Amino acid sequence: MTQEAWLAAHPYLLSVAEFHAAVEKAAQGLPSALACIPDWSNYESDYLAGVPLLRSCHSSIDLSLVEAAVVALLRNLASVPLPDKLVQDIQDLQAVLRNCPRASQAFVTCLFDQEAEAPKYFGLFRYLGWTEMTRYLSRVVDAFGKWRDEERWLRRCCPTCGSPPAMAQLIGIDPGRLRFLSCGCCGTRWQYRRTGCPFCENSDDHRLNVLMVEGEKELRIDHCESCSGYIKTYNGSGNESLLLADWTSLHLDIIAREQGLNRSAASLYEI
Ligand SMILES: [Zn+2]
Ligand SMILES: [Zn+2]
Repeated sequence: MTQEAWLAAHPYLLSVAEFHAAVEKAAQGLPSALACIPDWSNYESDYLAGVPLLRSCHSSIDLSLVEAAVVALLRNLASVPLPDKLVQDIQDLQAVLRNCPRASQAFVTCLFDQEAEAPKYFGLFRYLGWTEMTRYLSRVVDAFGKWRDEERWLRRCCPTCGSPPAMAQLIGIDPGRLRFLSCGCCGTRWQYRRTGCPFCENSDDHRLNVLMVEGEKELRIDHCESCSGYIKTYNGSGNESLLLADWTSLHLDIIAREQGLNRSAASLYEI
Protein backbone atom coordinates (compact mmCIF):
# COMPACT_ATOMS: atom_id res chain seq x y z
CA MET A 1 0.00 0.00 0.00
CA THR A 2 1.49 3.36 -1.01
CA GLN A 3 0.72 6.71 0.60
CA GLU A 4 -0.74 7.90 -2.73
CA ALA A 5 -3.20 4.99 -2.83
CA TRP A 6 -4.12 5.55 0.83
CA LEU A 7 -4.79 9.25 0.22
CA ALA A 8 -6.84 8.48 -2.89
CA ALA A 9 -9.07 6.28 -0.69
CA HIS A 10 -9.05 8.80 2.21
CA PRO A 11 -9.02 12.25 0.57
CA TYR A 12 -9.93 14.01 3.85
CA LEU A 13 -6.37 13.24 5.05
CA LEU A 14 -4.85 15.30 2.23
CA SER A 15 -4.33 18.51 4.23
CA VAL A 16 -2.43 16.73 7.02
CA ALA A 17 -0.37 14.88 4.38
CA GLU A 18 0.52 18.23 2.78
CA PHE A 19 1.59 19.61 6.15
CA HIS A 20 3.78 16.55 6.66
CA ALA A 21 5.39 17.03 3.28
CA ALA A 22 5.99 20.73 4.02
CA VAL A 23 7.72 19.93 7.33
CA GLU A 24 9.77 17.24 5.61
CA LYS A 25 10.87 19.74 2.97
CA ALA A 26 11.71 22.34 5.63
CA ALA A 27 13.76 19.77 7.55
CA GLN A 28 15.87 18.99 4.49
CA GLY A 29 19.14 20.83 4.63
CA LEU A 30 19.12 21.23 8.41
CA PRO A 31 22.17 19.76 10.15
CA SER A 32 21.31 16.16 10.96
CA ALA A 33 23.13 15.37 14.20
CA LEU A 34 22.61 11.86 15.59
CA ALA A 35 22.55 11.13 19.32
CA CYS A 36 25.40 8.96 20.62
CA ILE A 37 24.50 5.40 21.56
CA PRO A 38 24.61 5.09 25.37
CA ASP A 39 26.67 2.59 27.29
CA TRP A 40 23.90 0.06 27.93
CA SER A 41 25.59 -1.42 30.98
CA ASN A 42 25.22 1.94 32.79
CA TYR A 43 21.52 2.09 31.98
CA GLU A 44 20.60 -1.58 32.55
CA SER A 45 19.48 -1.31 36.19
CA ASP A 46 17.20 1.63 35.35
CA TYR A 47 15.73 -0.37 32.45
CA LEU A 48 14.94 -3.29 34.74
CA ALA A 49 13.36 -0.83 37.22
CA GLY A 50 11.09 0.56 34.46
CA VAL A 51 12.81 3.90 33.84
CA PRO A 52 12.51 4.91 30.16
CA LEU A 53 15.83 5.61 28.47
CA LEU A 54 15.43 9.37 28.04
CA ARG A 55 14.35 9.77 31.67
CA SER A 56 17.38 7.96 33.03
CA CYS A 57 20.33 9.99 34.24
CA HIS A 58 22.50 7.15 32.89
CA SER A 59 21.40 7.51 29.27
CA SER A 60 23.87 10.37 28.62
CA ILE A 61 21.79 11.59 25.66
CA ASP A 62 22.03 15.33 25.15
CA LEU A 63 18.50 16.69 24.66
CA SER A 64 19.49 20.35 24.80
CA LEU A 65 19.63 20.54 20.99
CA VAL A 66 15.88 20.26 20.55
CA GLU A 67 15.00 23.91 21.07
CA ALA A 68 17.58 25.17 18.56
CA ALA A 69 16.42 22.48 16.11
CA VAL A 70 12.80 23.67 16.34
CA VAL A 71 13.89 27.30 15.84
CA ALA A 72 15.81 26.29 12.69
CA LEU A 73 12.90 24.20 11.43
CA LEU A 74 10.46 27.09 11.98
CA ARG A 75 12.77 29.40 10.04
CA ASN A 76 12.77 27.04 7.06
CA LEU A 77 9.04 26.37 7.38
CA ALA A 78 8.33 30.10 7.15
CA SER A 79 9.46 30.03 3.49
CA VAL A 80 7.22 27.09 2.48
CA PRO A 81 3.73 27.86 1.12
CA LEU A 82 1.18 26.91 3.82
CA PRO A 83 -2.43 27.75 4.72
CA ASP A 84 -2.88 31.18 6.40
CA LYS A 85 -3.79 29.69 9.80
CA LEU A 86 -0.55 27.71 9.94
CA VAL A 87 1.53 30.69 8.80
CA GLN A 88 0.06 32.64 11.71
CA ASP A 89 0.74 29.78 14.17
CA ILE A 90 4.35 29.60 12.98
CA GLN A 91 4.83 33.35 13.42
CA ASP A 92 3.26 33.23 16.90
CA LEU A 93 5.48 30.36 18.00
CA GLN A 94 8.58 32.08 16.62
CA ALA A 95 7.70 35.21 18.61
CA VAL A 96 7.23 33.21 21.84
CA LEU A 97 10.56 31.38 21.41
CA ARG A 98 12.32 34.67 20.63
CA ASN A 99 10.85 36.72 23.46
CA CYS A 100 10.13 34.37 26.31
CA PRO A 101 12.91 31.99 27.42
CA ARG A 102 10.72 30.66 30.25
CA ALA A 103 7.99 29.61 27.84
CA SER A 104 10.46 27.81 25.60
CA GLN A 105 11.88 25.93 28.62
CA ALA A 106 8.31 24.92 29.51
CA PHE A 107 7.84 23.64 25.93
CA VAL A 108 10.90 21.40 26.19
CA THR A 109 9.77 20.11 29.62
CA CYS A 110 6.33 19.27 28.22
CA LEU A 111 7.87 17.25 25.37
CA PHE A 112 8.97 14.66 27.93
CA ASP A 113 6.28 15.07 30.57
CA GLN A 114 2.76 14.12 29.53
CA GLU A 115 1.39 15.23 32.91
CA ALA A 116 2.67 18.82 32.64
CA GLU A 117 0.12 21.44 31.65
CA ALA A 118 0.68 22.35 28.00
CA PRO A 119 1.37 26.06 27.39
CA LYS A 120 -0.19 28.03 24.52
CA TYR A 121 1.29 27.23 21.07
CA PHE A 122 2.70 23.98 22.47
CA GLY A 123 0.88 21.81 19.88
CA LEU A 124 3.01 23.02 16.96
CA PHE A 125 6.19 22.95 19.07
CA ARG A 126 5.45 19.36 20.12
CA TYR A 127 4.96 18.26 16.53
CA LEU A 128 8.13 19.94 15.27
CA GLY A 129 10.11 19.00 18.38
CA TRP A 130 9.33 15.31 17.99
CA THR A 131 9.93 15.47 14.23
CA GLU A 132 13.47 16.62 14.93
CA MET A 133 13.92 14.34 17.95
CA THR A 134 12.88 11.30 15.92
CA ARG A 135 15.60 12.05 13.39
CA TYR A 136 18.14 12.78 16.14
CA LEU A 137 17.28 9.59 18.08
CA SER A 138 16.87 7.24 15.11
CA ARG A 139 20.18 5.44 15.59
CA VAL A 140 19.62 5.12 19.37
CA VAL A 141 16.05 3.78 18.93
CA ASP A 142 17.40 1.18 16.52
CA ALA A 143 20.27 0.11 18.81
CA PHE A 144 17.99 0.14 21.89
CA GLY A 145 15.56 -2.20 20.11
CA LYS A 146 18.40 -4.65 19.46
CA TRP A 147 19.77 -4.42 23.01
CA ARG A 148 16.69 -4.65 25.21
CA ASP A 149 14.95 -7.81 26.33
CA GLU A 150 11.29 -7.11 25.48
CA GLU A 151 10.07 -9.60 28.08
CA ARG A 152 11.67 -7.46 30.80
CA TRP A 153 9.66 -4.36 29.86
CA LEU A 154 6.04 -5.18 28.88
CA ARG A 155 4.97 -1.79 30.24
CA ARG A 156 2.34 0.55 28.89
CA CYS A 157 4.76 3.47 28.38
CA CYS A 158 7.40 3.80 25.67
CA PRO A 159 10.75 2.38 26.84
CA THR A 160 12.60 5.16 25.00
CA CYS A 161 10.73 8.37 25.86
CA GLY A 162 8.09 7.31 28.43
CA SER A 163 5.03 8.43 26.41
CA PRO A 164 1.82 6.41 26.38
CA PRO A 165 1.36 4.51 23.10
CA ALA A 166 -0.19 6.10 20.01
CA MET A 167 -1.23 2.81 18.39
CA ALA A 168 -0.96 -0.96 18.68
CA GLN A 169 -0.09 -3.73 16.23
CA LEU A 170 -1.05 -7.39 16.26
CA ILE A 171 1.44 -9.71 14.59
CA GLY A 172 1.21 -13.42 13.80
CA ILE A 173 -1.62 -15.86 14.34
CA ASP A 174 -3.07 -17.34 17.53
CA PRO A 175 -1.96 -18.90 19.81
CA GLY A 176 1.42 -17.23 19.26
CA ARG A 177 0.07 -13.84 18.36
CA LEU A 178 1.99 -10.86 19.73
CA ARG A 179 0.92 -7.32 20.42
CA PHE A 180 3.26 -4.39 20.05
CA LEU A 181 2.62 -0.79 21.07
CA SER A 182 3.86 2.05 18.95
CA CYS A 183 5.08 5.46 20.14
CA GLY A 184 3.77 8.44 18.18
CA CYS A 185 6.55 10.65 19.56
CA CYS A 186 9.90 8.89 19.12
CA GLY A 187 8.81 6.04 16.83
CA THR A 188 9.76 3.14 19.14
CA ARG A 189 7.75 -0.10 18.97
CA TRP A 190 7.70 -2.41 21.98
CA GLN A 191 6.01 -5.58 23.09
CA TYR A 192 3.04 -5.54 25.46
CA ARG A 193 0.61 -8.11 26.84
CA ARG A 194 -1.58 -9.65 24.14
CA THR A 195 -4.75 -8.52 25.93
CA GLY A 196 -5.40 -5.82 28.51
CA CYS A 197 -5.90 -2.08 28.36
CA PRO A 198 -2.64 -0.16 27.86
CA PHE A 199 -4.09 2.86 29.66
CA CYS A 200 -5.73 1.65 32.91
CA GLU A 201 -4.10 -1.81 32.71
CA ASN A 202 -7.45 -3.55 33.18
CA SER A 203 -6.84 -7.15 32.18
CA ASP A 204 -10.42 -8.45 32.39
CA ASP A 205 -11.04 -9.72 28.83
CA HIS A 206 -14.78 -9.22 29.23
CA ARG A 207 -14.32 -5.50 29.58
CA LEU A 208 -12.26 -5.12 26.40
CA ASN A 209 -14.04 -4.75 23.08
CA VAL A 210 -13.18 -4.44 19.42
CA LEU A 211 -14.85 -1.93 17.13
CA MET A 212 -14.45 -2.86 13.47
CA VAL A 213 -14.40 0.02 10.99
CA GLU A 214 -16.24 -0.29 7.71
CA GLY A 215 -13.88 -0.25 4.72
CA GLU A 216 -10.76 -0.80 6.86
CA LYS A 217 -9.57 -4.39 6.67
CA GLU A 218 -6.37 -3.92 8.66
CA LEU A 219 -7.32 -1.24 11.18
CA ARG A 220 -9.67 -1.49 14.15
CA ILE A 221 -10.41 0.25 17.43
CA ASP A 222 -9.76 -1.73 20.63
CA HIS A 223 -11.50 -0.12 23.60
CA CYS A 224 -11.84 -0.61 27.32
CA GLU A 225 -15.11 -0.55 29.26
CA SER A 226 -13.32 0.33 32.49
CA CYS A 227 -11.68 3.61 31.42
CA SER A 228 -13.35 4.18 28.00
CA GLY A 229 -9.86 4.52 26.53
CA TYR A 230 -9.22 3.18 23.05
CA ILE A 231 -6.21 2.27 20.98
CA LYS A 232 -6.17 2.16 17.19
CA THR A 233 -4.79 -1.20 16.19
CA TYR A 234 -3.08 -2.29 12.99
CA ASN A 235 -3.98 -5.91 12.52
CA GLY A 236 -1.32 -6.92 10.03
CA SER A 237 2.28 -6.32 9.01
CA GLY A 238 4.29 -4.97 6.10
CA ASN A 239 2.77 -1.46 6.03
CA GLU A 240 3.99 -0.23 9.43
CA SER A 241 5.37 3.11 8.25
CA LEU A 242 2.02 3.99 6.69
CA LEU A 243 -0.53 2.36 8.99
CA LEU A 244 1.18 3.07 12.33
CA ALA A 245 1.78 6.71 11.48
CA ASP A 246 -1.22 7.87 13.57
CA TRP A 247 -2.12 10.70 11.13
CA THR A 248 -3.10 8.17 8.44
CA SER A 249 -5.91 6.90 10.70
CA LEU A 250 -7.24 10.13 12.19
CA HIS A 251 -10.68 9.18 10.82
CA LEU A 252 -10.71 6.33 13.38
CA ASP A 253 -10.21 8.88 16.16
CA ILE A 254 -13.30 10.73 14.93
CA ILE A 255 -15.30 7.49 14.91
CA ALA A 256 -14.08 6.67 18.44
CA ARG A 257 -15.00 10.14 19.68
CA GLU A 258 -18.49 9.74 18.20
CA GLN A 259 -18.78 6.54 20.25
CA GLY A 260 -17.95 8.49 23.42
CA LEU A 261 -14.48 6.96 23.80
CA ASN A 262 -11.48 8.82 25.26
CA ARG A 263 -8.30 9.42 23.33
CA SER A 264 -5.84 8.44 26.06
CA ALA A 265 -3.19 7.73 23.43
CA ALA A 266 -0.29 10.17 23.07
CA SER A 267 -0.84 11.91 19.76
CA LEU A 268 0.91 14.80 18.03
CA TYR A 269 -2.34 15.63 16.23
CA GLU A 270 -5.29 17.65 17.45
CA ILE A 271 -8.71 16.48 16.28
ZN1 LIG B 1 8.63 7.10 22.58
ZN1 LIG C 1 -8.76 0.91 30.36
